[in-house]
This record gives sequence, structure tokens and C-alpha cells, in this order.
Amino acid sequence: MTSSPLYDTYIRADLAFEKGEGSWLTMANGDRYLDFAAGIAVNSLGHAHPHLVAALTDQASRLWHVSNIYEIPGQRKLADRLCQRTFADKVFFTNSGAEAMECAIKTARRYHYAKGAPEKYRIITFEGAFHGRTLATIAAGGQAKYLEGFGPKSEGFDQVPFADVEALENMVSNETAAVLIEPIQGEGGVRMVSHQCMRDIRSVCDEHGLLLILDEIQCGVGRTGKLFAHEWAGIVPDLMAIAKGIGGGFPIGACLATQDAAQGMIAGTHGTTYGGNPLAMAVGNAVLDIVLEDGFLDTVIKKSLLLKQGLAQIVDAYPQLVEAFRGEGLLLGLKCVAPNTTIVSSLRDEGLLTVGAGDNVVRILPPLTVSENDIRIALDKMNAALAKLSNSGQTH
Ligand SMILES: *Cc1c(COP(=O)(O)O)cnc(C)c1O
Repeated sequence: MTSSPLYDTYIRADLAFEKGEGSWLTMANGDRYLDFAAGIAVNSLGHAHPHLVAALTDQASRLWHVSNIYEIPGQRKLADRLCQRTFADKVFFTNSGAEAMECAIKTARRYHYAKGAPEKYRIITFEGAFHGRTLATIAAGGQAKYLEGFGPKSEGFDQVPFADVEALENMVSNETAAVLIEPIQGEGGVRMVSHQCMRDIRSVCDEHGLLLILDEIQCGVGRTGKLFAHEWAGIVPDLMAIAKGIGGGFPIGACLATQDAAQGMIAGTHGTTYGGNPLAMAVGNAVLDIVLEDGFLDTVIKKSLLLKQGLAQIVDAYPQLVEAFRGEGLLLGLKCVAPNTTIVSSLRDEGLLTVGAGDNVVRILPPLTVSENDIRIALDKMNAALAKLSNSGQTH
């Protein structure tokens, strides 16, 4: 690769796509790839979904942007629908996941401030977490590789081992404001927090007057077969950051809060120029039109079963390359024996896009609208790629 005018922060695959349709991406030369990365759980309804295209183009011809100093009816509508379907009473819209997280962090701190306890500002997070790339969210995620060289780590984040409730209890102090967790770690390697553990964390929060913040930026909006992943555990948070899937490819994030948790966020305490603008809200509402259709989430679970069956066979057939699969719904991970980067690139050579994650995992994140036939094609491609790798003896 020749030098690029772009920051060198990404090691990019040498692929450029020109067009997308459903679960498929096409390059200028006509080569087609089956997209089981979906923009990393972003293209929840695949590419160029007609309902989303219509919503965006219709809005584009009428009004792109107005400031949040005016009413934006699409925002009220999307917030109403999110609140109707969740624990939440209040929503703040952003452009990205990290900004939604920042809003959740600020809301949690401000809650205790409003209640006369400004000393409660610390937030407890879990090892392996990923909450974004802003200065506060890299501190929340606590991963050395993302913090190194960026000056002092933003104050106020304490970390305990993954899903360790006892360590969590021991970490709670009279400065603790909240606990922050992904119900399923995405970047961390599709690591699932057990439903019992989620319930135990909720209890710890209740006992100590802490807010529970969920990061459902990757696992939310139907990805696991429920509208939100925490529903599987039968608990509710006080605050939740969402993004990725809710925009279907248009940059949208949101922080959802109970009325109580949001009590400190009064006029002037927070703001955004673009967050929740009319284009974004038209698309967000269109995504919900589909995801909330009767039976849609059942189809996600059905497709997940088909994909899991195939992955189980693959794990049986190639134990020298992959050792297990895990995940919920269409947020699945193959735990690899061979380096996950080798597996991702050999799948890509077969025309199947997936994405690596921590813990030597390959994430499998098809659009929620993927067809059963495309799942079968993907499984064939996986078998072909792993057979080749296994014949070449390239397991390390
Ligand atoms: C992607 C992601 C983020 C960050 O979202 P951005 O839109 O990249 O800022 C935060 N948390 C989780 C769990 C994510 O998957």
C-alpha cells in the first residue's frame, strides 16, 4: 500500500465496495461478498433496505437539519417508541455510541450531584469491556492498548474482573455512582454475562443506591433476538446507551434513562449539534418500524438456531482451528485455536466477511434480515475456508 492521506489508525483490508443489497456487498469489478460483519452490527436491516432508503430520501427532500433549540418531531416520536418498549422515560440522541456512553456517564454523575452527593462520581466497569474511543470511554473500558500514550487516564473509573460480582461488591465505596456493563461483550470477544450474574449486579446496585448503566450499543436493537439483551435476564437498568443497530447505517446513538436517573440533566447541562437531527430520526424510526413488526424478533431467533447448528458442526469438524462458538441471537462468536486474523482472512478469501474480536474470537454478525439461504451459503463458505486451512496445515 502506498502512503495514504488518512490517519494510519486502521489496518484496512484491500477491499472497496461500491454497492450493497441485503446481505451482499459488491465491488466495482463485480466481486460479491456475503456480509456477516454488517458494519460491526450496524447494518441491522442489511444494505439498501427499501424502507430505509425511502425514509431517508423522503426526509432528505424536505429537511436535513435543524438545531436542537427547535422541536424535532421525529425525535419525540422515536423517543416515545423507545420508552414504550423499555424501562426508559427519557432519551437523549447522539451521533455515535461513545457519545451515548458519555451522556450516560454524565447523567449518572449528575444524578448523585442533584441528590446532594457530588462525591459519588466513580463508575465500576469490567475487564475486557469496550465502551468507545473518547477519553472518558477509553478510561471506562480500561484497556491498556487503548489508553497508552494519551495522557492521564480520565479519573473516576474502577475495574473488576469480568462478571465477578464479589469483586464488584468489594470495589463499591461511598464515592461509587454507578456500575457499567455490556450484557454481552462485543469487542471483548462475544463474552456473555450470565443472566444470574446480571440479576446479581442489579441487586448490588439496588443495595448500595448505585445506578446500573448498560452498554447495549452492540447487543441491542434486536441483535440477540430480544429488542434489548438485558430482557433475557429479566432485569432493567437505570441508564442504557444504544447506537449501531438503531441507525441501520445512519450514525445514531441514544442514551435512555428513567425519569429518576435523568433528574440532574436539566436545561443547559448537556447538548449536541447534530444528535437527533431530522435525517437521523427518519431512519431510526424506519428501523423500528421493521424491528418492532410482529414476529420479526422470532425470525432472528429462528435464524440464530440455524446458524448455531452449522457452527456446532464446524467446531466438530475442525477442532484444530476452532474450539467453540458462543453468543445469543445473531451476535455470535467462534472461539479460535488458530489466530482469529488467519480465520477472518481465509473466510474473506471465500467471499465471506466477518470481524475479529478479543479473546481470539471471530464475530459473526449478519444483518438481522439475513435469509436462511444466505446463512447456508455462509456456512458452506466457512466449511470451504476451514477445509483449505486445515489441508494447508496452517493452524498457527
Ligand atoms: C461500537 C461500540 C461502542 C462505541 O461506539 P462508536 O459509535 O464507535 O462510538 C461502545 N460500546 C460498545 C459495546 C460498542 O460495540
